[in-house]
Amino acid sequence: MTKKICVLPGDGIGPEITAQAVRVLEALGVGLEMETALLGGAAVDACGDPYPETTRKLAEEADAVLLGAVGGPKWDALPREQRPERGLLGIRKHLGLFANLRPVALYPELVNASTLKAEVVAGLDILIVRELTGDIYFGQPRGIENRNGERFAFNTMHYTEMEIRRIGRVAFEAARRRNGKLCSVDKMNVLETTQLWRDVMNEIAPEYPDVALSHMLVDNAAMQLVRAPRQFDVIVTGNMFGDILSDEASMLTGSIGMLPSASLDENGKGLYEPSHGSAPDIAGQGVANPLATILSAAMMLRYTFDLEEAARKVEGAVGKVLAKGFRTGDIFEPGMIKAGTAQMGDAVLEALE
Ligand code: NAD
Repeated sequence: MTKKICVLPGDGIGPEITAQAVRVLEALGVGLEMETALLGGAAVDACGDPYPETTRKLAEEADAVLLGAVGGPKWDALPREQRPERGLLGIRKHLGLFANLRPVALYPELVNASTLKAEVVAGLDILIVRELTGDIYFGQPRGIENRNGERFAFNTMHYTEMEIRRIGRVAFEAARRRNGKLCSVDKMNVLETTQLWRDVMNEIAPEYPDVALSHMLVDNAAMQLVRAPRQFDVIVTGNMFGDILSDEASMLTGSIGMLPSASLDENGKGLYEPSHGSAPDIAGQGVANPLATILSAAMMLRYTFDLEEAARKVEGAVGKVLAKGFRTGDIFEPGMIKAGTAQMGDAVLEALE
């Protein structure tokens, strides 16, 4: 059966980097059909809507979505409703993407790109699973009001059992595919919401006897991530803690152009995109690093299409390219081979053979 991918290049470097990921997916010969549509600023320019109906339809029909990035200074002055970021939030909401997966792996060749000591980060390979649609970011009531003559601001943190259970299952399944270790991060000593989080994680643990579950308070987790990050395999946490910890963890590698991500719905359909933005400062120059997008395509093969072997093949090819010394500007070190976006794509294709 043909698998259909909706490709959304977006803005800035988006078209340049997605083009390379598409080449890689096509070269695998695993029966993937791809169709491109507009999202973000490019869609605003074409029809005044950052998430147009034609894109909605294609995204809905497809089995997976490959996204470059959206946004740029050109659209910053537009009303909020027409901003490119609205397109991104729109598609995430429309597709019901509640699970965000951010792997943070350090290729041995890039160990010097990290601001941490090589002996702390060498061999680092963790996966952060963040709940994406609940928590204090979406909780009602919320607002800023005038009470008793002064301004008063409030937000509401909440999770239902169902929301915790479904993200927990994604994390246990991911740990099962990796090294069988799952650390759930909460603040149960202070917040009832996360007491329930911990209780539900413990309740589903017996369904996964092959996964070792542990718990950690979020303040300690933030510390452990820079003290001894290799102790982690998979981390699962709520929306707000996950927002902060995943950015902290991404910096352990020191190279934003290398970090992929996936956001999944309840049926394994996903949106796959690099963790970085549209990099308007280097757009159109053919110098952007396409590896985060290529690695996002590898995640798509693994998580939506269950093509583990193909996923590993792509990841292995990226490793070979780095071992051969190819580097884009963002990860360049003296003595290496300076490559542009397309050359990096060529090198990955060659390494796949
Ligand atoms: P950014 O990630 O686009 O860029 C930060 C820095 O990293 C820049 O110097 C850039 O050149 C560099 N960089 C990023 N990706 C790179 C790559 N693949 N290769 C080489 N260098 C790379 O973040 P920003 O500058 O804060 O944001 C720029 C625009 O992107 C804004 O409009 C922002 O809203 C948008 N944005 C979009 C997304 C998304 O689409 N998911 C995420 C973050 C930011």
